[in-house]
Amino acid sequence: MPPERLAVLRRGNEVGELARKLFPGGVDASAGASPRSMDAVVRTKELIEAGTKIIYEASFVHNEILVMIDVLALEEGEWNMYEVKSSLRISQSNINDASLQFAVVRGTGLDVRRVFLVNLNGYYRRRGQLNLKELFNVTEITSDAFRLESDLMKAAEEQKLVLGMPQAPEIKIGAQCYTPYECDFRGQCWKSTGDFSPFKLSGTSRSEQGRLYAEGCLDYRNLSGEEKKNLSRLTYLQVVTAQKNSIHLDKESIRSYLQKAGEEIMFVDIESFQPAIPVYEGTSPFMQLPFAFSVHHLLKDGELKHYVFIAEPGEDPRKRFTEEFIRATEGHCTIMAYDMTAENGILNQMKKLFPEYRSEIDSRIARTSDLMKPFSEGWYHHPSMMGSISLKYVLPALVPELNYDNLKIRNGSHAMTVYEGLTKENDLFARAEKLDALREYSTLDTLGMVRIFNVLRSCVN
Ligand code: SF4
Repeated sequence: MPPERLAVLRRGNEVGELARKLFPGGVDASAGASPRSMDAVVRTKELIEAGTKIIYEASFVHNEILVMIDVLALEEGEWNMYEVKSSLRISQSNINDASLQFAVVRGTGLDVRRVFLVNLNGYYRRRGQLNLKELFNVTEITSDAFRLESDLMKAAEEQKLVLGMPQAPEIKIGAQCYTPYECDFRGQCWKSTGDFSPFKLSGTSRSEQGRLYAEGCLDYRNLSGEEKKNLSRLTYLQVVTAQKNSIHLDKESIRSYLQKAGEEIMFVDIESFQPAIPVYEGTSPFMQLPFAFSVHHLLKDGELKHYVFIAEPGEDPRKRFTEEFIRATEGHCTIMAYDMTAENGILNQMKKLFPEYRSEIDSRIARTSDLMKPFSEGWYHHPSMMGSISLKYVLPALVPELNYDNLKIRNGSHAMTVYEGLTKENDLFARAEKLDALREYSTLDTLGMVRIFNVLRSCVN
C-alpha cells in the first residue's frame, strides 16, 4: 500500500481513538477478535446482554451484511449510534454508509433510535489542552437514515446478486470506477488502457472521458478537429503535441517572461504538513504548517548556492521557519516558486501569526514570480507532460535525467507523512535517515526548478 494511503488509514485510526474519549468507559467489541470472523458480533451480543452501556466497534450482521459501529451508546435508556469521520466535511457517501449501518442494526432487532456522524470542526482552535467537545462536530442524520433505508437495502440486495454470479458481469470501465471512491479493481480492469486512452485526458471530467470511451475512442490522438474544439487550452495542447509528437513553444511569451525574471533568481520551495488533530497552540484541524524549505540561489555569474532548512520535529515549526526563510531570502532579486499561490498562502499565514515580520514577508511576496506560468499559460507543452502542469510531470519531461524515481520520498504528501512520523521516531539512525531523505527531496524540487528555468532559457536563445 502506498505510504500516503497508509497515512490516511493511520490518521483515521487516531481520530477514531480520540473520538472514543467523548464516550468514556466503553468496551471494544473487536478487541482480540480475529478479522473476517464473527467473534466481534458474538462479543457485541454478549456485551449488550451484560448491560454494557458503551460499546466501541459494535458489530452486527443482518441479511448477510456485516457492519461495525464506531460507538454504540445507551443514552437515557435508548440506543444511539455514532460514526466517526476524520474529515472536516460530511459527504453524501458518509451519510449513506452510516444509514446502511443504521438499517442493518435495526434489522437485527436492536431498537437503535438515533444515528450521528462525528467529524472534525475546522473552526476549532487549540487553546491549552484539547477540548474534545469543541474539536468534534456531532451531527444527527436520523431522518436521512430513515429516508434512505429502503433504497440502500435494495441496492445491497442487488450487489449480493452480483456477488453470487459465477462470473463478473461485463461492464465497461468508466466514471463509476472513481465514484464515490477509486475502485480497488482498477489495476485489473484498466490494465489494457494505453497511454493515450481518453481516461488520460487531463482537465476533462470523468463522465466526459467515459462518454468518449463508450463512443469507441480508445486513443485521444484520433480525436477529430470538431471534438478538439471543445477542449480546454491545456487538454488541446495535450492532444496536438501527442498527435505531432513534438513540443509546442511560444518563444516570444517565454522570452518576455524570462526578461522580467532577471538574471539573479532564488528558486524556493516550501514543505508543509496538515495534522488532523491540532498539536500546537492556536492551530486548527488540518491547518497547513510549514516545516521546511529549500532555496537554490542562482547568481548573475551562473554560480548556484543552496540552503535547506528542516524544523526540529516535535516543536511548533512556524516561528523558526519564518525567521530562517527571511534570512535565506534576503536581497532584491526575483524569488521564483512553482505554483506561487501555495507558497504565498503560507507566507501570508505567517504574516498574520507574526506581525513583527510583516514588512519582511511582504517584501518577499512582492518579489515572487511563478515558474509554473509558462506551462499554465500554454507557452511550453511537451507531449510527455500529458496536459499536466504539475512539477512531477514537467520536470521529467524537460529534464529527464533528474527525476524522483531514485528518491526515498517522491512527493509532497509522502514528505509530510514522514515529517509527522518523525515526532514519534525514537531510533536515532532511522530519524537521521528520514531527515536526510526529506533534505534530498526538498533539494531536488528547487534544483529541478533551476534546470527547468535553464531549459526555457535555452529554448529562446
Ligand atoms: S474498476 Fe471497479 S468499478 Fe470499474 S469496471 Fe472494474 S470493478 Fe467496475
